[in-house]
Amino acid sequence: MNIPKFFYNSRGGVNLMKRVPTLFYRFGFTSKKIEKALHTYVEIVQRFGCSPTFPITATTLKRHPKLIQNLQKRGVEFAIHGYVHTDYSQLSEREHREHLQKAVRIFNQCGILFQGFRAPYLRWNGETQKAIRQFPFLWTSHQVMVWDVIELKEFPPSCQKAYEKVLKLYNPQSASRHPVLPTSINGFIEIPVSIPDDEVLIDRLGIRDQDKIFEVWKKILDATHQRGELFVLQLHHERIPYCGKALEMLLHYGREMDPPIWLATLSEIALWWKKREKSLISDRWPEKAKSAFSVSGDIDSITLFDFFMRIFEV
Ligand SMILES: [Zn+2]
Repeated sequence: MNIPKFFYNSRGGVNLMKRVPTLFYRFGFTSKKIEKALHTYVEIVQRFGCSPTFPITATTLKRHPKLIQNLQKRGVEFAIHGYVHTDYSQLSEREHREHLQKAVRIFNQCGILFQGFRAPYLRWNGETQKAIRQFPFLWTSHQVMVWDVIELKEFPPSCQKAYEKVLKLYNPQSASRHPVLPTSINGFIEIPVSIPDDEVLIDRLGIRDQDKIFEVWKKILDATHQRGELFVLQLHHERIPYCGKALEMLLHYGREMDPPIWLATLSEIALWWKKREKSLISDRWPEKAKSAFSVSGDIDSITLFDFFMRIFEV
């Protein structure tokens, strides 16, 4: 697959060019900047009694095992985000198996535990789901649900276009027409992830005000609470400087909700859903919670080198 062309198509030329200086600003030549963002991220979520789930590409893990091992020691949960950051919807079952074999080997060699898989670009196909079952996974989390929480007309045409492109890329289901809950097929759990995420709000729509970012996510949290459903937030570590405060406000707001929300990692959600199905528990969520909330963020790159390697690693 032609990755530069894929990037171009998914973002648009103008947005892609605008992104180059941003990349140099967000990522460094060393891992220092991103380490700081990751530690801030974990510290924020753990202050509210939970940990984030970070799906990470195996080749990125291989380049930074110490950093990831340290985060695991701090209680962070990891999942496999592909062997390399490529479009899995284009791979055959054999290619899926080869990629997964290599990814699982790297995770085992680095001593990083995993129970879940999230496809890069949130793009997958039937072969992904078939291949996953041949490995010791409990869950996937790459079905995208889009919430109608943005007044798109208020944004400039280039932003509107960039937003439409992401919808084309993810091919999401509409949260207003479908329940946003885990689904179980023979004990294997799919946990849907909600958008707009940090990438949509900050990079595509250009929102810089953290109060505004909070307001968008608060609408999703309110809606899932009202419906008794699940909000899996996707927030990438490199944008913590632009939305860490919004995350903190959201967690604070969620903690005050009555009846409470269940704040959990993706594996805790999958395990609960499995147990609930097996023992025919009638409560939808544990701990008398009305809805559930999980914070996740894919780690595609830690340094500039990782970012540019994504173009060559297919
Ligand atoms: Zn990714």
